[in-house]
Amino acid sequence: MSDVDVRTPVTVIGLGDMGVALAGAFLDAGHPTTVWNRTAAKADPLVARGATRAETPAEAVVAGPLVIVCVLDYEAVHGVLDPLADELRGRTVVNLTNGTPGQAREVATWADEHGIGYLDGGIMAVPPGIGTPQAFILYSGAREVFDAHKDGLEVLGAATYVGADPGAASLQDLALLTGMYGMFAGVLQSLALVRSAEVELPEFASTLLVPWISAMTTMVPHYADQMQRRAYGENVVSNLGMQSVALDNITRAHDEQGVGLELLAPLYALIRKRVADGHGAEDITGVAELLRAAKGARA
Ligand code: NAP
Repeated sequence: MSDVDVRTPVTVIGLGDMGVALAGAFLDAGHPTTVWNRTAAKADPLVARGATRAETPAEAVVAGPLVIVCVLDYEAVHGVLDPLADELRGRTVVNLTNGTPGQAREVATWADEHGIGYLDGGIMAVPPGIGTPQAFILYSGAREVFDAHKDGLEVLGAATYVGADPGAASLQDLALLTGMYGMFAGVLQSLALVRSAEVELPEFASTLLVPWISAMTTMVPHYADQMQRRAYGENVVSNLGMQSVALDNITRAHDEQGVGLELLAPLYALIRKRVADGHGAEDITGVAELLRAAKGARA
């Protein structure tokens, strides 16, 4: 049995679209739920559903052992939490605000110094998805803190522990978003190309684009294996030399149709460079070798 069950009081700080959904899920699951938001009126619908309104963040965090924070950014996180070190001592903060691994590690160090349990989280759902089987939330930080609160956190979506490094959830959250935005870039470019020929976009999308992209996602584990081992030439499925010819056709087709290729041009340039460097027999994964190390990168 975890420390948090359906009777455990929970505090939710931040009642934007996401915070409201989180607090609502706790209320639906029977948790006594205390809420605070900078703009107090946003708590009204939750209070009508049984939540307790706290007048101040300090009043909110002393209501129970588990404090969920979901505000816009880390500036807001620090603005709310930094003055509350004494009130938070002995409690657990679960910070579901989107940020960087470095920002998460910084708050975790502060929490540790003040005797506050800390988990950082990455929400992989939109607000209406909270509490549904599709939702999952990544958590990182001390394993024992996660284990103590896992059952309560499951109310929000599948609670997925990704490691003791407090930055791990943020890193993997941002990596998932990176994959998503890459897909969106391709989708927008694809739809722009067919729109130029007055193709019915919804039909093209549902009958062709979605099945095609879904089929291509089956390549992801193979690519991950090649990248893990930097073995770009092993079990090659689609060699880069062949792909660069297709890319020339894609580029020319955009020109013919009068559509700019800005969304994918950087990728195509890297593929052409990789081929020019003599890696045309490899898979596309070798293109990752061309990513420059950023300033300030962690080893
Ligand atoms: P939102 O609707 O824009 O709400 C932002 C919240 O942050 C509000 O409660 C706002 O308070 C509060 N806030 C902003 N600045 C503040 C400050 N200086 N001090 C105190 N509170 C402050 O955003 P959201 O959709 O709820 O997103 C919250 C977090 O969840 C973000 O980090 C976001 O990336 C993450 N997230 C969102 C989604 C999504 O689809 N919505 C999905 C995954 C993750 P006021 O009401 O007073 O302005």
